Amino acid sequence: MENKINMKNYDVLIIGGGSVGVPLSYYLAKKGVRVAVIEKESSVGRGQNRAAIGGIRATHSDPAKIKICLETLKIMRKMENKYGYDVDWIEGGYLFPVYNEKDETTLKKLLKIQKSYGLNIDWISKEKVQKLIPGINENNLRGGTYSPEDGSASPLKTIDAFYMLAKENDVDFYFNEEVIDAELSNGKIDTIKATNRNYKSDLVINCSGGNAKEVGKIFNLDLPVFPDSHEAGITEPVERFFDPMIVDVRPEKGSANYYFYQNKEDQIVFCITPAPKIPGKDCDNTSVFLPQVIKRIINLYPRLRNIRVRRTWRGLYPMTPDGFPIIGYSKELKNLFLAIGMCGQGYMLGPGLGKILSEIIVDKSEKYDEFIKELSLYRKFDKDEMLK
Ligand SMILES: Cc1cc2nc3c(=O)[nH]c(=O)nc-3n(C[C@H](O)[C@H](O)[C@H](O)COP(=O)(O)OP(=O)(O)OC[C@H]3O[C@@H](n4cnc5c(N)ncnc54)[C@H](O)[C@@H]3O)c2cc1C
Repeated sequence: MENKINMKNYDVLIIGGGSVGVPLSYYLAKKGVRVAVIEKESSVGRGQNRAAIGGIRATHSDPAKIKICLETLKIMRKMENKYGYDVDWIEGGYLFPVYNEKDETTLKKLLKIQKSYGLNIDWISKEKVQKLIPGINENNLRGGTYSPEDGSASPLKTIDAFYMLAKENDVDFYFNEEVIDAELSNGKIDTIKATNRNYKSDLVINCSGGNAKEVGKIFNLDLPVFPDSHEAGITEPVERFFDPMIVDVRPEKGSANYYFYQNKEDQIVFCITPAPKIPGKDCDNTSVFLPQVIKRIINLYPRLRNIRVRRTWRGLYPMTPDGFPIIGYSKELKNLFLAIGMCGQGYMLGPGLGKILSEIIVDKSEKYDEFIKELSLYRKFDKDEMLK
């Protein structure tokens, strides 16, 4: 039975209470905008935010993601002291240990680009790698790149913190509420139709993550977001013995890179990129993942061999054809803004992006024009992100 309680009116309506939508709602509301978040699940963060393992780095290969994540890092460093929320932030850096000439050449080439954007990242010697990761496999170890100002935090605690901040700033959240249809007229969204209510809003922001393509269809738009599956796991806690996020970029049969770190609760959290990709939305754990990733991690870091795994899970990277997000106003519908296609980095992009978008949307700031243009839906999608 249809149960349309009433029509709700807002300045901004955000579709999706995830890694991007929730921080964005807070930054918009802080500027005095009346915001609602519509989320089909029963609470925030139940999409892909909860699948993220918590890595946050600004050391990307392009200016847009670098600038957004530098903003995120500033926010994460202040979360506890300024906002009063402990999100398990650890400034342990990212370390890419290198074992062959090819990877050394690639990472050193990338280093030049990264340094040109002022990032604190450098090549470090084998000895320095061993000091930062005591007990790492030293056979053929050549050194690595290290960015000490990157880090990690808890995706669950982060989204909870932004949810509380958003509520403190009067954002309305509607849970168990799925956007299913819309009325369009004169090149605008007139009404958003969701499971329980209809909504009107000056601006609608699509932050629906892995569902972006389906939500796009509601607006007659073909949005190139194609989710693929990734698995992750977490161990029991053990006495702290390393700080950086370790990323091994060497591919092997069945998998590409994998990465892991020790979180603030001293558990090791890890994740692998399957090769070939596993397209689609299947989020059931597999028996392939654990033996595959554990073999690689223990080979790199034998000291981890006796630690017991507590839990594994599977989630999605909402991928775009070039590995970069899609951000900006739609040309077809004047009051639709897109913040989708976050690939494997939506958790680290979310807070910085929320702050920047609030300046673009509310203050009409033009200072981000150039790099936001790079992320437009109307770009050619012919680049290829080196570290996606
Ligand atoms: C194993 C794994 C490890 C990862 N590790 C990291 C990491 O270390 N660092 C990092 O930055 N990223 C990581 N990621 C990627 C990260 O999880 C995603 O990029 C990010 O969560 C995407 O954010 P989002 O806001 O776009 O989507 P989500 O967080 O999924 O939010 C979208 C929300 O929209 C809702 N929604 C969808 N359709 C509708 C609708 N029609 N109506 C209402 N609501 C709707 C969904 O329920 C969901 O809550 C990882 C991902 C995986 C799978």
